[in-house]
Amino acid sequence: VRSLRIGLIPGDGIGREVIPAGRKILEALPPSLGLNFSFVDLDAGFECFKRTGAALPQKTIDTLKQECDGALFGAVSSPTTKVAGYSSPIVAMRKSLSLYANVRPCKTVLSPAFPSPTKSPIDLVIVRENTEDLYVKEEKTYADPSDPTGKHQIAEAIKRISSKASWRIADIAGQIALRRARMRQAGGKGEARQGMVTITHKSNVLSQSDGLFRATAREALSQPRFNSLKIEEQIVDSMVYKLFLQPEYYDVIVAPNLYGDLLSDGSAALVGSLGLVPSANVGEGIIIGEPCHGSAPDIEGKGIANPIATIRSVGVMLEFMDLPEAAEVIYKAVDANLAEGRLVTPDLGGTATTEQVTDDVIKRL
Ligand code: NAD
Ligand code: MN
Repeated sequence: VRSLRIGLIPGDGIGREVIPAGRKILEALPPSLGLNFSFVDLDAGFECFKRTGAALPQKTIDTLKQECDGALFGAVSSPTTKVAGYSSPIVAMRKSLSLYANVRPCKTVLSPAFPSPTKSPIDLVIVRENTEDLYVKEEKTYADPSDPTGKHQIAEAIKRISSKASWRIADIAGQIALRRARMRQAGGKGEARQGMVTITHKSNVLSQSDGLFRATAREALSQPRFNSLKIEEQIVDSMVYKLFLQPEYYDVIVAPNLYGDLLSDGSAALVGSLGLVPSANVGEGIIIGEPCHGSAPDIEGKGIANPIATIRSVGVMLEFMDLPEAAEVIYKAVDANLAEGRLVTPDLGGTATTEQVTDDVIKRL
């Protein structure tokens, strides 16, 4: 039996309702998988900031680094107006743990109970760069020198792109595309399609920053081991257009941080609810599973948050911890719950609670 230690960082809002669901799933995995999980509760977020003065306590980072094989992160709230001293801990966490890739699989629910928002079913993965671009958060505001009244201001933000980060994100996108192609083959459905990576950027306008991303990603993906993949690129605005019009076309999409953020929320709409879409933060060490949604203050405390994004994030975490069989058990149980479509939360038109959905998935593990 293999022992694995998992950090639990619920954060704020519905994060505290869905992370316990993730824990329950790990505890309920069949013993035949030979895995034994232990857990450590960790603090982060806006509530934590108000209580302790730190949005991301050093203890959380240290414990993740020193004790944990994996972790589950819920969501944190970020006030839209600046609160002195507070900054969302996610970006800092990704940085200090070298979690350079955010991997977001988006798959249509195949169920007679829910009409798909798209004509054809989609099954794509967005691989979002996680450490740079506009999210370096180097901003400044100053008086507009062309304005004699001194009333007008200018704000600037740095968009930083490095060849190092662009290379490694394209490389992991290539590896994911290879693995997906292998799994489609093994699934034996006959018409398994070729693996494909679409590089997205805006280098027609931003020839240096996005230009560097594009050129480096192209180079990384032209390594011989990616020979079996189709590599293509698409400018991000037309990417949005085609993604909405013909989403079934895509396999793996690799993008700089901001475009990846936008494209993945858009893709979530194409499968019906943010409450369904998982992600994992992947890098050099620990893997952190994280639902794509936020803290959802509008439904907080009602016990009706959809736990499936988190449960699937447990699966994606396990996949990147090299435990694909355990991940598959979870995906299948979720698919079975959705296929029946009886016990689902209100975002999917049902009346079930977070707990009822979780227990139904557990029954199917
Ligand atoms: P949100 O994702 O929290 O909510 C958007 C909408 O989707 C809401 O109507 C919400 O009720 C619904 N929704 C989200 N998750 C759901 C679930 N599991 N089940 C059912 N419905 C669900 O985005 P928002 O409202 O723009 O942001 C709210 C707060 O979350 C903000 O403070 C924002 O900064 C924060 N946020 C955090 C993260 C993160 O921690 N990774 C991501 C996005 C937003
Ligand atoms: Mn986002």
